Amino acid sequence: MSVRENLERVRERIRAAAAHAGRAPDSVGLIAVSKFQNVAAIREAYAAGQRDFGENYVQELCAKAEELAELGDLRWHFIGHLQRNKAKKVAPLAHAVHSVDSLELVTELAKRAEAARAERTRRFAEAGARLDVLIEVSIAGEEQKSGAPLDEVPNLVDAVEREPALRLRGLMCVPPQSERAEDARPFFDALARLRESLGGAARLPELSMGMTADLEQAIFAGASLVRVGTAIFGERPQRA
Ligand SMILES: *Cc1c(COP(=O)(O)O)cnc(C)c1O
Repeated sequence: MSVRENLERVRERIRAAAAHAGRAPDSVGLIAVSKFQNVAAIREAYAAGQRDFGENYVQELCAKAEELAELGDLRWHFIGHLQRNKAKKVAPLAHAVHSVDSLELVTELAKRAEAARAERTRRFAEAGARLDVLIEVSIAGEEQKSGAPLDEVPNLVDAVEREPALRLRGLMCVPPQSERAEDARPFFDALARLRESLGGAARLPELSMGMTADLEQAIFAGASLVRVGTAIFGERPQRA
């Protein structure tokens, strides 16, 4: 199965789930998660109309962004854990960072996005010069390694809003792995409720949740962005 055919299948899954939930098909965006995949696979997806790509590792993002620089309207979403000392590398390149989970990271990203304003303006045009930010929430609590604890999320949301170089977009989560897609549903519902408690979609338009195994469940719960790797690119090669 080619990347193009896989993409069409994923788009069909998204359309079907949106229809089932009584939502408009274009209310759910697709991020193609390309970690560990080569640039040829990314080009294939791009040729099939895909523009938003997700990467988890800073070095890999930088290398791919350089190799694919001529694809001017390709948007990189950073979705992996981001260490503060790597914010400098991500700030000029990423359209959005989905994994902001600490005040220190908010401050550092704001500083680095501001310093990269000229480059970001060239890359994204004036309207997109600000760096889009989503707060990653540790929605299942202690068993999770990444994401901000629930009680810190209100502070983080406020902090992002205070930074002129950042644009608050929403919340993101990765539920614990499980056998059945339905098991993720309570976590997706919890993220949607958290959004409501913080001002709803007017303040936090994006809910970034749902992957290959459970994107339908996420869409039923209100996802506006799903992040899909395996269903588009096939099983990931092992990391070199
Ligand atoms: C790898 C990854 C994905 C994609 O996972 P698949 O199961 O391959 O669709 C989505 N989100 C995050 C944060 C990831 O690390």
